Amino acid sequence: MGRIQVLPEVVRNQIAAGEVIERPASVVKELVENSIDAGATRIRIDLEEGGVGLVRVTDDGCGMDPADLALAFEGHATSKLSESSDLEHIASLGFRGEALASMGSIARCRILSRQPGEEGGFQVRAEGGQVTEVEPAPGPIGTTIEIRDLFYNTPARRQFLKTTSTEHSRCLDVIQRIALAHDNIGFVTTHGQKRSFDVEPHMDFHGRIRRTFGSELAEALVPVRAEAMGIELEGFVAPPRFSRRDTARQMWFLNGRMLRDKLLIRVLKDAYHGFLDPGRQPVAFLRLRMDPARVDVNVHPAKAEVRFRDSRPMFGFLVKALRAAVVETDMATPGESLLQTKWRREQREAEAAGTYLPLPSQASQGAAGPVIVRDVPGRFLHEDATGQPDTPVQAWPSHAPASSAPKGAVPDHAQDWAEQDRFAGPFLQVARTYLLRSLPDGFEIIDQHALHERLTYEEMRRDVRDNAVVIQRLLIPEMVEATRADVKRLAECTDELERIGILVEPFGETTLAVHGLPSRLRNPDAEGVVRDLIEILCRDGKLPGADDVIEEVLHSAACRSSIMAGDELSDSDIQTLLQRSAELESDQTCPHSRPTRVRFSLADLEKAFHRR
Ligand code: ADP
Ligand code: MG
Repeated sequence: MGRIQVLPEVVRNQIAAGEVIERPASVVKELVENSIDAGATRIRIDLEEGGVGLVRVTDDGCGMDPADLALAFEGHATSKLSESSDLEHIASLGFRGEALASMGSIARCRILSRQPGEEGGFQVRAEGGQVTEVEPAPGPIGTTIEIRDLFYNTPARRQFLKTTSTEHSRCLDVIQRIALAHDNIGFVTTHGQKRSFDVEPHMDFHGRIRRTFGSELAEALVPVRAEAMGIELEGFVAPPRFSRRDTARQMWFLNGRMLRDKLLIRVLKDAYHGFLDPGRQPVAFLRLRMDPARVDVNVHPAKAEVRFRDSRPMFGFLVKALRAAVVETDMATPGESLLQTKWRREQREAEAAGTYLPLPSQASQGAAGPVIVRDVPGRFLHEDATGQPDTPVQAWPSHAPASSAPKGAVPDHAQDWAEQDRFAGPFLQVARTYLLRSLPDGFEIIDQHALHERLTYEEMRRDVRDNAVVIQRLLIPEMVEATRADVKRLAECTDELERIGILVEPFGETTLAVHGLPSRLRNPDAEGVVRDLIEILCRDGKLPGADDVIEEVLHSAACRSSIMAGDELSDSDIQTLLQRSAELESDQTCPHSRPTRVRFSLADLEKAFHRR
């Protein structure tokens, strides 16, 4: 061993950088938070190569004068803290003065800044710890900071970076969280010069959630607002059906700072207690305001963790306030909610057309309720009873009793019914699982779940065959934990998987990120798909042909995303289902080779009633 030496400044900064700057997303976080501290109302983030090539943050904030610029890349240089007692009440986002110094030691950096009221601006560069003189440079009011070629001089760190798209989505994640925390600030994000996420300055919290996570979630949120013990709580909770396996959509903000905290995860668990399956995590977006003196934010360099000084009474207050909102959420199960949404859309359309739709809750009589009778005059029966030409099937057309369908009309061309009228009614939906309808020579029972499963599966197979798979990209990738070996195995067949509509890639050594799934899957279950894939890979050692993968992976995915037994179907749902399935090559069995339909002939009935 050599002698003890004081480390040179640049090495100290590189070590500090290890804590502050892990990846492009940390650069984005530090720079954007600096812009917010500088009072910016518009922040633009330009990224190249997932942020590794370039992170450029441009703001319209207070700017820096030449003296500030000269110090900006110095370690522990900050304008936000001068005495250690200030640490007691840190209100601004940055406070350590480490970020820019760190970046200056591990990337090629430039700051261009102009203060309001000044004729022109100034710039300074830093590269591998070497800082240039400050020099005049033209530029708009505000600050632009460019960080290029991250880790160019620390290859060991660069090696830990993931693919461009993974790093990009991590950057986006940071930007979206920050945007959620700050009303009154607009954000524009580009990646490779393409817009990837925008928020207008005037958008409120709810609007920002909608922009980030889509309107289905935003519409279903229930607001929370409570105040006690000097704590203000404000935000939204989602219905239990939006729950996930991870806490990625639990977003807490404390005084404008995003926060990950075990205590707050527990608060939400308790607030949803009894409404969630064990192992599921609720979704909520919550802002806390309190005196900064009551929290210790200096726990972790990344500043995502805090320590609350009086956590026990706060815990009780938060759980109580949140639970009151949770019980107000729509508790319907996923399948039902799917149809509820569909029903609402149909109702809006019907209202526009001046027709009336009964509420789903009026149409049904509870989960275990009796048979639901629907009376859709079917094409087949029309033709036979009245000789009328084909009338199009309507969604909710008549209020006539079901018995108005002609009974005992047994036509002599009974053989072609199967081909012509596979979707003619009227239907009885039994136990929300089976669809019954009368046929000229008997009756038929359709298993709605099995049929829908078959349908989704067949359509996906057709898509693959025609090279026409449409992928639904997930805004936020779904993370699935797996073993190192599994992650490696799956990483080797990402191209083949993409062909059948599965966008998945490694995200670290033990995590897989699912970026997209076939858009035919409703409520896709990314984790289920990945688990199935891993199972096949472990068993066969490689990926079988596309058809087999579809067979094994997508059909169980189709199954999970299908209309379930227990879903109440409207007449138009039934019509759509049957019409689409009529186009299938075979709709007689579900992919698990269970039957989708069972038919009973008059002969069967006669036997049952001892008429024969
Ligand atoms: P910290 O944010 O902890 O103070 P940083 O290294 O992130 O440390 O920034 C150092 C200093 O540079 C800040 O204290 C601030 O004075 C100045 N600064 C950084 N970014 C900006 C910006 N976008 N606008 C104005 N001043 C900035
Ligand atoms: Mg900072």
